[in-house]
Amino acid sequence: MKLYNTLTKKKEEFIPITEGQVKMYVCGPTVYNFIHIGNARPMIVFDTARRYMEYKGYDVNFVSNFTDVDDKIIAKANEEGVSAEEISTRYIAECKKDMEGMNVKPATTHPLATQEIGGMIDMIQTLIDKGYAYDVDGTVYFRTRKFDEYGKLSHKNLDDLRSGGRSLLVTGEDSKEDPLDFVLWKPKKEGEPFWKSPWSEGRPGWHIECSEMSKKYLGEEIDIHAGGEDLIFPHHENEIAQSECCNGKPFARYWLHNAFLNIDNRKMSKSLGNFFTVREISEKYDLQVLRFFMLNAHYRSPLNFSAEIMESSKNALERILTSADRLKDMIPKAEKAAVSDQEKDLLEQMKEFRNKFEMAMDDDLNTADAIAAIFELVKFANTESDENSSREYLETLRKEMVSLCDILGLKAERKAESLDEEIEALIAKRQEARKAKNFKLADEIRDQLLSQGIILEDTREGVKWKRA
Ligand code: AMP
Ligand code: ZN
Repeated sequence: MKLYNTLTKKKEEFIPITEGQVKMYVCGPTVYNFIHIGNARPMIVFDTARRYMEYKGYDVNFVSNFTDVDDKIIAKANEEGVSAEEISTRYIAECKKDMEGMNVKPATTHPLATQEIGGMIDMIQTLIDKGYAYDVDGTVYFRTRKFDEYGKLSHKNLDDLRSGGRSLLVTGEDSKEDPLDFVLWKPKKEGEPFWKSPWSEGRPGWHIECSEMSKKYLGEEIDIHAGGEDLIFPHHENEIAQSECCNGKPFARYWLHNAFLNIDNRKMSKSLGNFFTVREISEKYDLQVLRFFMLNAHYRSPLNFSAEIMESSKNALERILTSADRLKDMIPKAEKAAVSDQEKDLLEQMKEFRNKFEMAMDDDLNTADAIAAIFELVKFANTESDENSSREYLETLRKEMVSLCDILGLKAERKAESLDEEIEALIAKRQEARKAKNFKLADEIRDQLLSQGIILEDTREGVKWKRA
């Protein structure tokens, strides 16, 4: 299996450190709001990478953090008049709900930065002891000039960055020895969460979090480190500097980066305000459609989001579901049980689609071509089966379709639609909640129904409902 490594700018054969095992770290979101569909891209593509490696027989130790201490979390907490912890706990729970909807498997471990401060302090201390970091009045900086390989991941011209950086020095950071030096520890400001350290009461810089959590849960040397391409510089460059100087070993062998999800050809981001949350999308679509849309492009190609492309993704996914459903309907009706000789030949031909699928995935996770192989199978199943086909043959076709989709985390089986009685019961529960003035519960029930495609209308004759 080949993976494109940002470090070497080449597609390389994947060779794990320990045979049969993969140690993989993916930088997770900062939790101060619902995640947007740009954040969902690394979640979906690297979950698919994990699933494919598991399919190939690797035991994958998959670690992905939540950054639960950050300026934006603190700002949101102040805005709402609650603690930073309340904000991060709330949005971690919401993020996990979205992940479930997108069929993103929970990581082996989801560490929280705030639970790992002790380990970060130890790493920073080691860096100071080795001369790679220095303390100026309670702020600790990493000394980039001391690490010869600084810049090896981002392939940037550091001299240009340095001279550009000099004019950009932020107030309060003018005590740095070099414009490229970055913060490992910073003193608290009034009203901020803080931890005690040998340098000041304060909190860690963002980059050290990942170096520490990766080391703690996966070891000093890992196979794959991944995230969105905006993280290459400075975040991942700085992680390499910290980890390699602290541990005296190469950090990650393969660095994988997904391209952006854009909208009107600009990066979708919270700061630009041009985003859709996963939750918003879930009101209109099954999140399988979102997953399909993401995987229908190569993870290193920019992907433009639009209403039209979501509609065409929905229709394309529908074609797979319809084909799988058709086989499912035919199976119990098939008169012959065992495969005929002719069907045996056809099942031999069918293997070609799995081969194509694997070839695509082995080529740097080309999910777009893997999906094309699934569509070839769909076409084959639609044309090469009818009421005279045997049960075993139909079952084999269907299983193949379900199995290939499953490797990509797509479910080739339609969700059973809620029964009318269940819907009626929920509506009655919502009416009771409203009577009791429990509007929170009432709204939750309405949202739950909406996520199942049920729209409520309050009319003079009472509550009416319809399917979206
Ligand atoms: P953040 O919460 O901004 O640190 O982002 C969490 C993850 O989402 C990181 O891996 C980012 O690179 C990634 N990400 C953020 N915005 C986008 C986008 N528009 N397209 C693809 N990935 C993104
Ligand atoms: Zn990170």
